Amino acid sequence: VGSGGLLCALDIGGSYVRVMLTAGEEIVRHQQSSWPDNLAPRDEVKFVADLALALLAPAPPPAAVGVSLAALLDEQGVVVQWPNRPGWRGLAVKQILEARLDAPVTIEDDANAAALGEHRFGAGRGYRDLLVIMAGTGIGAGLILDGVLVRGRHGWAGELGHLILLPDGPACSCGRNGCLQALASGRALDRAAAERGLAGAPAVNQAAARGERWASEVVAACASWLGLAAANVATLLDLELVVVGGGLRALGSAWWTTMESSLHANGLNSDHHRVELRPTQLDDRAGLLGAGILAAESIGADMIEPLFHR
Ligand SMILES: [Zn+2]
Repeated sequence: VGSGGLLCALDIGGSYVRVMLTAGEEIVRHQQSSWPDNLAPRDEVKFVADLALALLAPAPPPAAVGVSLAALLDEQGVVVQWPNRPGWRGLAVKQILEARLDAPVTIEDDANAAALGEHRFGAGRGYRDLLVIMAGTGIGAGLILDGVLVRGRHGWAGELGHLILLPDGPACSCGRNGCLQALASGRALDRAAAERGLAGAPAVNQAAARGERWASEVVAACASWLGLAAANVATLLDLELVVVGGGLRALGSAWWTTMESSLHANGLNSDHHRVELRPTQLDDRAGLLGAGILAAESIGADMIEPLFHR
């Protein structure tokens, strides 16, 4: 394979950056790095590009670059909001990366990229109509209908975390009240922990594991809200599958079964059209693989499942 045919996938997260170069099914190189301290936001984007360039050297520019970025973007690839790195607001990430890498760059938010990865190579393989939910500190989702990622007018389709389920509910990071994310994410667990003078979501999980009733109820409430939101989306779109992953999976089987019960109890005609619920399969590789798919699709190529060495 000529090195000019390399595809470059970037997974830009709050605490790490991953780069993968592929040629066909072969992963030519991949690397993960944490963020260096004290860089200006624009230099952080250049740091990402330089990681890719170092991996590419001495090969010519890649054929295409796909990016999974854990931020809200506009149609031009400019960051609208990134709670983890507020300084990135207004940064033209796509433009900076294209100039530095001398290749076309396609960016999706991390949930959309993960949905692409899970659909193609993970839990959603073989399904056509599905919702992939990543539930952690925030709640993101990617929606695939008729086998295609739904982007919407601004690329913001699938913002499941900001569906308002309880208008008088707790404040959300988006400035409104009662969004799913305020009710069911790691932030909801953090809030419940703080109300009892405990530190963070893991404390709630530990208390639930010790059989403390308040904690079990908090976990169950989070799971029920998530199941309800998924059921409403499944009803609206006649989905066949809901895939759930992310840090909240650590809440274990009580959380999962409550979510599943809520999904089925709140679905329309669930006796006849029971939507399936499955856990994600790709773990933290989903975004990187999704980025690879984006790169391939942007040049009309096919992304073949690359083999990771474990
Ligand atoms: Zn919100």
